[in-house]
Amino acid sequence: MRSAIVLGGGMVGVGSAVHLQRRGWSVVLVDKKEPGRETSYGNTGIIQSEAVRPYPMPRDLATLVRIATGRANDVRYRLASLPHHVAPLLRYWWHSAPKRHRRAIAAWARLIGYAAPEHDVLIREAHADNLIRRAGYRLLHRDPKAFELAVATAEENRRDFGVRFDVLNGNQLAKAEPLLRDDLPGAIHFLEPWTVSDPGSLVAAYAGLFERLGGRILRGDARTLNETSTGWSVDTGEGRLDAACAVIALGPWSPDLLQTFGYRVPLVRKRGYHMHYRGGSSLDIPLVDAANGYAMAPMARGIRITTGAELTSPDAPATPVQLAYAESEARNLINLGSRVEPEPWFGTRPCTPDMLPVLGPAPHHRGLWLNFGHGHQGLTLGPATGRLLAEMMDGETSSIDTSPYGLDRF
Ligand SMILES: Cc1cc2nc3c(=O)[nH]c(=O)nc-3n(C[C@H](O)[C@H](O)[C@H](O)COP(=O)(O)OP(=O)(O)OC[C@H]3O[C@@H](n4cnc5c(N)ncnc54)[C@H](O)[C@@H]3O)c2cc1C
Repeated sequence: MRSAIVLGGGMVGVGSAVHLQRRGWSVVLVDKKEPGRETSYGNTGIIQSEAVRPYPMPRDLATLVRIATGRANDVRYRLASLPHHVAPLLRYWWHSAPKRHRRAIAAWARLIGYAAPEHDVLIREAHADNLIRRAGYRLLHRDPKAFELAVATAEENRRDFGVRFDVLNGNQLAKAEPLLRDDLPGAIHFLEPWTVSDPGSLVAAYAGLFERLGGRILRGDARTLNETSTGWSVDTGEGRLDAACAVIALGPWSPDLLQTFGYRVPLVRKRGYHMHYRGGSSLDIPLVDAANGYAMAPMARGIRITTGAELTSPDAPATPVQLAYAESEARNLINLGSRVEPEPWFGTRPCTPDMLPVLGPAPHHRGLWLNFGHGHQGLTLGPATGRLLAEMMDGETSSIDTSPYGLDRF
């Protein structure tokens, strides 16, 4: 029987494990925690079928100066950690040139195109419909000029990729979301994204489905991964585990493990924070405040505010700046209530410099497979890339051309 150890129980690892198990593989999912307790827990919870363009690095001088001088809330950096970011950021800059970004969009949009349908299957099989709302989200704009530009981009996305949306002026927005002020320029309502009331629970539900299909979940440390004469082994709480294949789906931790096998994978680590608020008013659907670089999503624990990107080192302590700014801007919009947790959660978006995930075999190690680097949309893409990986591991022609995602591109 074909056997695999999947390392990492986030949305990407669980998505891979379910697809392999369903195809008759004998699969053990190994994580140091329960499934869905890291990045896949703390995000904004949007299954983003509208996100057909991966985020490029800003290249215009005005934006770069705003970031450099600490006046942008969507991107901040910690000076002491900048030296670690320089090399991946230079590559990110290079790949963000319009011509190269267009290539990334083409490869990215192909994945996004069947992200929601893949979730749909798992949501039904995992009986997780209670966690899902299919009403889209709104992108709020405060500056009329930026709003106009965002509408123009959305129109291009409708023309090229069939993205569906409505444009709401300030009055229409206040009618749709009556708690909001009516003096805002307006918002784009993306109609097709789905929102999750508890992203960690969605991963746990898919992990439950994986177990019902016969898969096993064990606690263990991925850093004990070893190549053996018959394949791969890893140490778990239940002893040493052997399998013919191993899948690295450790999100932002993947490059660290790969380095021990001689692979250097650049990663732009974009930290984000969240905090829940209760006791105020609630929103109908999530609202992204573009100008101020944060999102508000109604969730099981209250309204979750999530922040943009902070370039810092993985072990650096939390900095309160972006969340505090986001909170004060959100309080100008709605009655937010009070903080639920004593400290904010934070986690890292695993972003590659060319904005595409790493998906496929490790070039120099037989039976070692990779699935990570889903950046800003790993909650969305986990089941889709899980299916692609399973097709590749079975030696089938994949549903889409997977050549842009191979590790050998680095
Ligand atoms: C603030 C924020 C908002 C976001 N909003 C969205 C959104 O709305 N929609 C969307 O699609 N995406 C969103 N994302 C991105 C998304 O959350 C990530 O892309 C996705 O969760 C990555 O999933 P993953 O499975 O690759 O990684 P993870 O979920 O981090 O999983 C990796 C797993 O590896 C395990 N692990 C690590 N080291 C070891 C080890 N040594 N041994 C064993 N196990 C180990 C961890 O415990 C973890 O369970 C957001 C991210 C952030 C930070």
